[in-house]
Amino acid sequence: MNLKKKIEKLPKDIQLVIKKAGNLADKMGLSAYVVGGFIRDILLSRANLDVDIVVVGDGIKFASTLANILDAGLIKHARFGTAVLTLGNKLKIDIASARSETYERPAALPTVKSGTIEDDLARRDFTINAMAVVINKRDFGKLIDCFYGRDDLNFKKIRILGDLSFIDDPTRMLRAVRFEQRYGFNMDRKTLSQFRQASRKKMLKYVTKHRIRDELILMLKEDRAVMMVKRMDKLYGLKFIHSSLSLSSVNRKFLNELDKVIECFKVQYPKKRGLDSWLIFFTALLNGFKLADIKKICFDFAFKKRDTRRITLYHQEHGKVLKRIDKKGIKPSLIYQNLEPLSFEAIVLIMAKEKKPSIRKKINEFLLNHNGIKLVITGKDLHKLGFVSGPHFKKMLLKTLHAKVDRIIKNKDDEIRFVKKHGSRHIRPFLKRNG
Ligand code: ATP
Repeated sequence: MNLKKKIEKLPKDIQLVIKKAGNLADKMGLSAYVVGGFIRDILLSRANLDVDIVVVGDGIKFASTLANILDAGLIKHARFGTAVLTLGNKLKIDIASARSETYERPAALPTVKSGTIEDDLARRDFTINAMAVVINKRDFGKLIDCFYGRDDLNFKKIRILGDLSFIDDPTRMLRAVRFEQRYGFNMDRKTLSQFRQASRKKMLKYVTKHRIRDELILMLKEDRAVMMVKRMDKLYGLKFIHSSLSLSSVNRKFLNELDKVIECFKVQYPKKRGLDSWLIFFTALLNGFKLADIKKICFDFAFKKRDTRRITLYHQEHGKVLKRIDKKGIKPSLIYQNLEPLSFEAIVLIMAKEKKPSIRKKINEFLLNHNGIKLVITGKDLHKLGFVSGPHFKKMLLKTLHAKVDRIIKNKDDEIRFVKKHGSRHIRPFLKRNG
């Protein structure tokens, strides 16, 4: 089969990269291929902005020259013979030397040797990810499909390449569930049976937490993340995240509700930044855990500081925040003071946790009208009005901001009047004598 026609239908910038990479390979006398998920998604007619190129030969040298030609950013991983090229337009190009891999022991990182394109395809996770397309001029577009990945795409099957696949690399279990649920496929009988065997052996406990984290985050970022978590729970359990984690019916409902709230959030507040849905789901999974355990889990997974903060802050604060904003007749500024320090992720979690219409109404009001509200005046204006600068400036501005949230004041003149009126009372000693 030849995919030339399909490649010609891809966005122009991707076609250009493929053409230039092919031309360069010809010049350097190398065989070059586009491989993996990119080919799978071409065959499924799905967009994919990650182009994986494999060359038989020195991938790093090839990548450096291609980066020059494309004027792209380049990150080299000489130890693995791989490189990443980044272009301004969100395109990411992974380049690797064709290699074969052998596993000395279960779940260990493989021993890598340079190899043929067939070796390189044989080391991959599933047949649907083990196809390559020639990009050299001669044979451009020719599909190399030694493991019948195209048939498996047609029959909607996730199939491993060897009996020890999940034992060699147990993170493939997470990947199997991810691809299965993403495309609405099923694992074939043998793959499922090997999965169950690896699951009985609890193979994920031999994998470093960092590798699990990376695959777990990819899973939780997917549109069907909740289905994936449930499937993982069914086939393996969730103790690979924490020894006392299981999916209670309360947590199931919480995840389902989160799915709905995340969708609504995107529709209702299209101007807000994109949500980190993986963080929302991960936080939800730890519902009911002690704060100390949550901190330990975040530490073990080595989450970024900012992510750990968002996860722990929710668990620390959500109960108190809910109690405070549930009060009747509470001023908008008080709701603002409770919600503004939280991340959108935490707010989504609170919305899913508490379905009470009165609370949802208050949160909606905050997100639509108050979040991100700003004063027109700044410290400079306070200065001009004769106030002496100092830490009280921040307090004064905050008080003015709260008055704006409560609609006591609306525009710059109001803000100045407010400061003049309340400033002297609240920062009495700081008024300049001659101001
Ligand atoms: P996605 O659409 O989620 O990006 P992808 O298939 O492109 O999917 P990557 O994680 O970018 O996934 O991996 C690129 C390719 O590398 C895969 O298509 C697969 O061939 C191979 N691969 C990735 N992880 C593994 C693994 N754990 N074991 C074997 N092969 C893998």
